Amino acid sequence: MNTYVEEYIKRTRKSKSLYEEAVKHLPGGVATPIRTFDPYPFYAARAKGSKIWDVDGNEYIDYNNCYGVIIAGHANPVVEKAVKEQIEKGLIFGLPEEKEALLVKELKRRYPMMDMFRFTNSGSETTMYSLRIARAYTGKDKIVKMEGSYHGSHDYLMISHQPPLGKMGPAWAPTPFVHSDGIPKDTAKNTLVAPFNDAGALENILRKHEAEVAAVIMEPVIGNCGVLLPEKGYLEDVRTLTRKYNVVLIFDEVKTGLRIAPGGASEYFGVDPDIVCLAKVLGGGMSLGAFGATKDISSEIFPLGGAMHFGTYNGHPVSVAAGLAVLTQVLTDEAYEKLNLLGDRLRKGMRDILERSGIPAKVQGIGSMATILFNELDQITNYREAIRSDKEFFMKYWMGCVTKGVIMMGPKWSEESVLTTAHTESDIDQTLSVIDDTLKELTS
Ligand code: PMP
Repeated sequence: MNTYVEEYIKRTRKSKSLYEEAVKHLPGGVATPIRTFDPYPFYAARAKGSKIWDVDGNEYIDYNNCYGVIIAGHANPVVEKAVKEQIEKGLIFGLPEEKEALLVKELKRRYPMMDMFRFTNSGSETTMYSLRIARAYTGKDKIVKMEGSYHGSHDYLMISHQPPLGKMGPAWAPTPFVHSDGIPKDTAKNTLVAPFNDAGALENILRKHEAEVAAVIMEPVIGNCGVLLPEKGYLEDVRTLTRKYNVVLIFDEVKTGLRIAPGGASEYFGVDPDIVCLAKVLGGGMSLGAFGATKDISSEIFPLGGAMHFGTYNGHPVSVAAGLAVLTQVLTDEAYEKLNLLGDRLRKGMRDILERSGIPAKVQGIGSMATILFNELDQITNYREAIRSDKEFFMKYWMGCVTKGVIMMGPKWSEESVLTTAHTESDIDQTLSVIDDTLKELTS
């Protein structure tokens, strides 16, 4: 590891000086803490297709793609054209604009169970408003989230996304762990936590709190513990239970939505939520979120009903233009086929390397998402299994790949690699040989 860090420091001198200036002005030197790691982050200069170049001129194949935002490759000409055309007309008007409804029509084509969508500016805002609408619809206050799922950093949901060992409580009834100072106790007590992939445990919670629970919010595929897939029948069971206990089912598809299938995990697994949360891919690289809801639930939203949702920047014309271009011009059925095939190639290659290496690890993923969890277990199905992964070894592996020109994912074990339509088989083969070399170095 030390040699990787030494090599990294040698390669990133300009980044180091930019960081030394930035720490004087931004807490931790960054706009969001997920972008930093020891000894300091490298700074982006530009990006094109599957590649990023840093300020020191190093080239990287990028599989982070801004944590899953980029799906059409960096600086995709179709998206750039749409953005430029919009910029020439004006950035933002404070008036409705034609493309909003066009983009919602496209979202409804992909999520046919949804009657209406509203735009926000981020995934966090989207999950926050979804909870309000669900509470308005049910007249109840509490919500249930899954241990290990991340839904953004607002007060209701900054809870138990990565609780520390020893503070988790029993597996079947996890103790909610509040991750941030400053969250009012009265707010946090409205959030209950269930284990992922355990319908029995969820039923116990819903039965116990039937009169109080407004919604179950979940990532149908957890993308914030590496990648954790729902076991066969689990999502269907959650759907049945939420109906039985009159609870709104919210799928947070900020990571999976518009990525693992045209209609995300809802389409892939054939389970219809009552509310769906989208962001990341949706804005084509610009800030954009949206929540969609069924007819009855949509009618709670002001001015149809009494649940407020406002925002000066909602449906920003440039974001909507970029999103519309990506969804309607780039993400064709063939594009999804390509993304999924590339995902298969990456996962298979990783599995072959790990098998040869004898390192205890598991490759998990779906569609164009893939991750390696350095973990002894054969199957990783929930947070408590995922957290047993070797995080120190992961950081060495990640740094080893960075020094060889590959950004495998964000600098944290719980993220994953995502592909874009700009990635090629040869990018993947080159990446696999970097992974192979790095793991050999780490185990020799
Ligand atoms: N939901 C999920 C599943 C996410 O992965 C994230 C961010 N990684 C969010 C919500 C929050 O999105 P944002 O960072 O845009 O607020």
